[in-house]
This record gives sequence, C-alpha cells and structure tokens, in this order.
Amino acid sequence: MKQQYKTIRLVLGDQLNASHSWFQEKNNDTLYVIAELHQETDYVVHHIQKVVAFFAAMKALSSALNKAGHQVLHLTLDDTKDFQDLPSLLAHLLKKYSATAFEYQLPDEYRLREQLSKYTRQLEIDSCAYETQHFYLSDSELSDYFKQDTKHRMEHFYRKMRSRFNLLMEGSSPQGGQWNYDADNRNKIKADDFDKIPEPLIFENDCDDIIERIKAHKIKTMGMMTNNLYWPINRSQSLALLRFFCQHCLKYFGRFQDAMLDQQEMTVQEKYWSLLHSRLSFSLNSKMISPHHVVKQAIEAYQQSDGEITIAQIEGFVRQIIGWREFIRGIYWLNMPQYSQLNYLNASNKMPSWFWTGKTKMNCLKHAISQSLDYAYAHHIQRLMITGNFCLISGIDPTEVDAWYLGIYIDAIEWVEMPNTRGMSQFADGGIVGSKAYAASGNYVNKMSNYCSNCHYKVNKTLEDNACPLNSLYWHFMDKHQDKFANNPRSRMVYANWNKKTDAQRQQVLDKATSLLIDIENL
Ligand SMILES: Cc1cc2nc3c(=O)[nH]c(=O)nc-3n(C[C@H](O)[C@H](O)[C@H](O)COP(=O)(O)OP(=O)(O)OC[C@H]3O[C@@H](n4cnc5c(N)ncnc54)[C@H](O)[C@@H]3O)c2cc1C
Ligand code: SF4
Repeated sequence: MKQQYKTIRLVLGDQLNASHSWFQEKNNDTLYVIAELHQETDYVVHHIQKVVAFFAAMKALSSALNKAGHQVLHLTLDDTKDFQDLPSLLAHLLKKYSATAFEYQLPDEYRLREQLSKYTRQLEIDSCAYETQHFYLSDSELSDYFKQDTKHRMEHFYRKMRSRFNLLMEGSSPQGGQWNYDADNRNKIKADDFDKIPEPLIFENDCDDIIERIKAHKIKTMGMMTNNLYWPINRSQSLALLRFFCQHCLKYFGRFQDAMLDQQEMTVQEKYWSLLHSRLSFSLNSKMISPHHVVKQAIEAYQQSDGEITIAQIEGFVRQIIGWREFIRGIYWLNMPQYSQLNYLNASNKMPSWFWTGKTKMNCLKHAISQSLDYAYAHHIQRLMITGNFCLISGIDPTEVDAWYLGIYIDAIEWVEMPNTRGMSQFADGGIVGSKAYAASGNYVNKMSNYCSNCHYKVNKTLEDNACPLNSLYWHFMDKHQDKFANNPRSRMVYANWNKKTDAQRQQVLDKATSLLIDIENL
C-alpha cells in the first residue's frame, strides 16, 4: 500500500457489485475502502448470520478486487473500533492518505444517504456520488414512476416495467396472453408434492474469525449460528444458487409460492425450510448479483425447458424481481423520511417476547419464528401471513415490528424491509403499498399449510379455551377498524358476516380477544 492516494472510494456493505463501472479500470491513485463498522452492527439487533454474511461477503469482494489489481483497504471491527461513526473514519482516512477527492455510491438506505450527504457538504475537497448501477430503474428515474403520499398499485407499475424492458413480451402484448397468473399460484403443498421439494443448496463458508470478532466486540445479535455459514458470500456462490433455483425450483415456483409446511410431518426434517423459493435475496440485496442477470438466466431456463417450466411459473418469478422489488424501492424513496413514522391504525401494543425465542403454543408462529432464528430466513407468506398477520391483528406498534424484521432476516435492508413491513404487512401507511390490510383468521393458515394439525389450539374454534387465537383476534381487529375498512369492496362480505351476529355474540368474541391480548405473553 502507498502512503498517499488521490481519491478514496467508499464501498458500503450492501454495494458488493464487482461489475460496477468503477472497477472497469485500474488506477493506482484510487484507494477502495471496505469497512466493518460499529454503527452498522448496532443500529438494530441483527441476526448473527446476517452480520457474519455481510462481513464475509465484504471480505470476499476485498480479496477479489485486490487480486484484480485494485488498491483496497479492508478494515475490520478491530481497525474501526475507535471511530465513533462513518464520517469520523472517513475524515481520518482522507487526512492519512492526503486524498484530494472522495467518492461513494448512493446508499440505498435513507439513514446512510443523509449521513454521507451531510458529510460531503462540509468537505473542502472534491466529492462525488455515483449510482449503484444495480436496479432496473436508476435513482433519477424513480420520480417518473412514483409520487409522494400517493397510493400506487404494483400491477400497473409491473406492466409498465415488462413493456419498457421487453421481458416476456410478444410485441406490445404479454407472452401467453395474460399479464398475471397469480390465480394459478395459490396451491397448498400436499403429501404427493413433497418429493418435488429439493434439499436446499447450502454453502459451507468457514467464518470462525468473523464470529470470534463479533463476540470479542460484544456485538448484540439474535438467532442461531453454526460453524459454517450457509449463505452465499461471493458472486460464484450466488450464481450457483441461481443455477440451482432455475434447475430445481423454477418449474414449481409460482404454483407453490404461497404454500407453507410444518417440518414435523416430514421424514427429512431439514429439507423443507425454503420450499421452492430462490433464497437469492441476500445475493441481490448485497448486490453480489444483479436483478438483470437473475431475470435473464431465469428466462433462458424457461425458454430451454421444453415446456417443463410454464409461463405461469416464470411470470410469477419475474414479477417478484422487476415488479415487487423495484416497486417497493420506489415507494421507499418517494416517501422517506415520513414513511418511517406512519401509523395509520394507531397500533401501540408491545411485541411479545416469544418473537425472540419461538416459544409459543401457536404452531404456525412457533414454526415461522423458529425457522427465522435458525436460518435468518422465512419466505414471503410466512413473513406476511404468519408473523406479519399476528402483529397486525394484535395491534403491535409498527416501529417494533419494523425493528424485528430489520434485524432478523438475512436480506433485511431498510429500503426493502420497511415498505414490506410497515406498508404491506401492517397497513400503517394507509394503503400506499397495498390496497388492503392482509388480515386473516386461522382459516387462511389452515388452507395454505399443515400447521394446524400439529397445533395446541383448534383452528375451527373461536371462544373455547383451546380456540385458535387468530380467530377472535381477527374479528377484534376488523371490528375496531370498521370505519377504515367497511367501504373497501374487498371487505364488504366480511362485515356482512360480522354484522349478521347478535350484539351478544359479537361481544363474546371481542371479550375473548381482549383477554388474549392481556395474556399475549402466554399464547
Ligand atoms: C413483512 C415482510 C418483510 C419483508 N422484508 C424483506 C426484506 O427485508 N428484504 C427483502 O429482500 N425482502 C423482504 N420481503 C419480501 C420477501 O418476503 C423476500 O424478498 C423473500 O422472502 C426473500 O426470499 P427469496 O429470495 O427466497 O424470495 P423468492 O420467493 O424466491 O422471490 C425472488 C426474489 O423476488 C424479490 N421479492 C419477492 N417479493 C418481494 C417483495 N415483496 N419485496 C421486494 N422484493 C421481493 C426478492 O428479491 C426475492 O429474492 C419482506 C416481505 C414481508 C411480507
Ligand atoms: S390452529 Fe391457529 S394458532 Fe394453531 S397453527 Fe392453526 S392458525 Fe396457527
């Protein structure tokens, strides 16, 4: 390493894009800084696998860039422990290396973007912010698609994206004649289907040094960690995971996208935790692979599959990436920072402590939480319709809910976590992301999973001691927010059924729910 560099370029932990134009040319006067920081490990309690995965992936990119001939400074927590925050570290490095320019890629999190923008405003040397070159839509284009405080609909946005990027199109029409095959994608996984689920491809990344460092620095974490990290930590592992998905899962992806399984009934317990999902979210959100590449590979697999992968399956997958992922990002940027304060339903209850242990008698919640603690992963419907639904119908404060989701999942970065959690799952944004609140009773869980057959509670009961708690909590929630939902065409039938009951019957259900909320720690 030299004593002096003209330019310092900062690469954040979720900017591990080796294909960024920055790395096309080598320049001995440019120093790339990749740093483990206390401010990033401490702003929320993260899952241990999440911290380890980010640090391991940062280290892997540092080595790859070094090998490719770039000048790289990789700093561990040991090296950065005396710096209070990122700006104080940068000030030190700029001075140490007598740099005359500072460059960074636009952070995807509001918190970091504000911090760096404030820092560079007072710098006396040149500074420049670059696009990350990762998403389909650049930062500067977002305001062409999204307006602040406006209710947007994903489907409308998604169709525009399909047309603009010419994906699964025949001229100006969607391939197969339909834009959306969601209606075909609501299947429960039955015993006959179990052999369709492959054993997940997991990696064995030895991260002992990182785990030791996290312990030595007393970083507070949650969840389980084995000696080896299962998650991909570099581009080649990410590509292997993508190939595995295209080969084994894509052909069933849409069909079983909403299904959930309790592993107790299975012979091979470990096999089923990610079902037919891709588990690509960490590779994508850390930018080790690009959404363009994922979509291109998946469409090629579809085209070469001789009909084994149908249009409904590939469409369902492409929709998640060019639709939901880009849509959520647009909502975040056009509505921050006020979005983080929204609480449309005035929810203020405390999250029960069993969210950190999985120790509840409700089998669906026990399963979704335990799996999240074991793997730092739950698939979309577990997040939305199990943990999310429980928090919604129990009126848990959305700020607590956000913090839990932001901490526990391997892929949780605020730009994607918050609109999904506060918006889609908690309806705290009053409908900016979704057109309805995703509230459900035990009936939905029973329809989409086999959790209820192994549960302490009985899904078809509402008032009895062993009644499924979700049943009365659901009606309590719908009753409490009747003024907000009664006019929504999607809720009319629900209220018609509720209002068919006598006052006394309704009161019994509401009293039951109230007693459950008081005893929420013991459910
Ligand atoms: C309450 C809640 C919180 C969530 N928090 C996060 C989060 O912190 N980070 C995150 O990446 N996703 C989040 N999601 C979205 C989704 O659940 C995850 O992207 C998905 O479960 C990741 O697993 P996978 O890679 O196996 O996804 P797959 O089911 O295989 O889907 C493929 C890809 O599509 C994208 N995708 C699918 N749905 C969404 C969505 N709603 N929003 C954005 N991208 C989507 C992801 O990049 C995902 O990797 C959340 C959803 C809910 C309901
Ligand atoms: S009975 Fe109720 S609590 Fe138990 S698994 Fe079914 S939905 Fe969940």
